Amino acid sequence: MNYYSTNGQSPKTSLKDAVVRGLAPDRGLYMPERIPTIPSAFFRHIGDMSLQDVAYVAANTLFGDDIESSTLQTIVNDTLNFDIPLVEVDSDKYALELFHGPTLAFKDVGARFMARLLGYFNRQQGNEDVNVLVATSGDTGSAVANGFLNVPGVRVFVLYPKGKVSRIQEAQFTTLGCNVTAIEVDGTFDDCQALVKSAFMDKELNDAMKLTSANSINVARFLPQMFYYFHAYARLVGSGKSADKVVFAVPSGNFGNICAGLIAKRMGLPVHRFIAANNRNDVFFEYLKTGKYNPRPSIATIANAMDVGDPSNFARILDLYGKSHDAIVGDISGCTYTDEQIADTMRNVYAEKGYILDPHGAVAYRALDEYLQPGETGIFLETAHPAKFKETVDSIIDGSVKIPARLEAFMRGEKSTVRLNKQFPAFKKYLLSL
Ligand SMILES: *Cc1c(COP(=O)(O)O)cnc(C)c1O
Repeated sequence: MNYYSTNGQSPKTSLKDAVVRGLAPDRGLYMPERIPTIPSAFFRHIGDMSLQDVAYVAANTLFGDDIESSTLQTIVNDTLNFDIPLVEVDSDKYALELFHGPTLAFKDVGARFMARLLGYFNRQQGNEDVNVLVATSGDTGSAVANGFLNVPGVRVFVLYPKGKVSRIQEAQFTTLGCNVTAIEVDGTFDDCQALVKSAFMDKELNDAMKLTSANSINVARFLPQMFYYFHAYARLVGSGKSADKVVFAVPSGNFGNICAGLIAKRMGLPVHRFIAANNRNDVFFEYLKTGKYNPRPSIATIANAMDVGDPSNFARILDLYGKSHDAIVGDISGCTYTDEQIADTMRNVYAEKGYILDPHGAVAYRALDEYLQPGETGIFLETAHPAKFKETVDSIIDGSVKIPARLEAFMRGEKSTVRLNKQFPAFKKYLLSL
């Protein structure tokens, strides 16, 4: 299967090139040129299948031409070696808990899948290691570092601004060792990003070593998120619950997660409709209402992984629906909530149901609470463990979220970093010395 660029100015390319490049040369996003459907018999048996088997069928449908089946099976199994429970919060509302992976947030799956796919493509080409450079202000670094940990043929360098990430975040990428190196830069996040950009543009460096990014727009990070939707549907059917009119509420920032869900629907997954739940950064909601898309600077909120003013996957959603506003509003509705509304929801759900929402999941829960119709079954994606936002959550629910053992283990690990100034020559010299 080939991949095309949403900007339409670059040639179509193979999955391998799309993964290695990340962004298309015309700066568009890659999309599969066809979205094959899965035979309906699969959905009749889906309730009896495991997470790994369901995900394999979905993955094989999209990637089967490009990856040998036993390899793809291994990649899927290695990516999904943890639970994704569907938890009943209300009689018609379920939480799909996407936070049981290594860094307790939903980006783990995309990062892990991409790491394995990149390792596989790289091994096909020879044995030279590929070096992944990633600049982080906190969360991306931990998902990528843990996703790529111990993947053969890949080395990861996480650049982060010294003293400007939280202790928990820092522990998640500075204590790993093995093929992960944390680089503590005396500067800001923008300085880190500038160093990475300069490295990609430096000819001498690129001649000496193979460099790539693990950007969130990469098809190998974005598409595997479709597994969640197939799996949620399977668990619903498997537990004998009504799955006639399934509604997914997705806490959305860059819209990668929900876009993968829309693709799952196009592949045949029986989804009734989607709700794109936003915090106060609501350019997409405004687009649904008016047909006009006006990107603007982001506003800081307590659901900060969704503080995005110009969602990068908007172009993919437009393409998926032939740029038709009517078609888009036929499948997706939206909503927007203030920090006060998010906090109220967290407080109420904790008091009434005993369930602790994180601020991102709370946005999606509230969307179901307000807009779910009789006869519909709602699934909201719980994208992060509440302990990742412990201070915020504790103060809102007036309680104390228990820190999971996995997070605590990071905190006990020994920090090891390479310290550099923010000047490119020092970074270049370091990379060339490896
Ligand atoms: C990244 C993130 C989101 C937003 O996902 P998108 O795919 O960017 O829409 C929501 N919640 C959490 C916790 C995240 O880390």
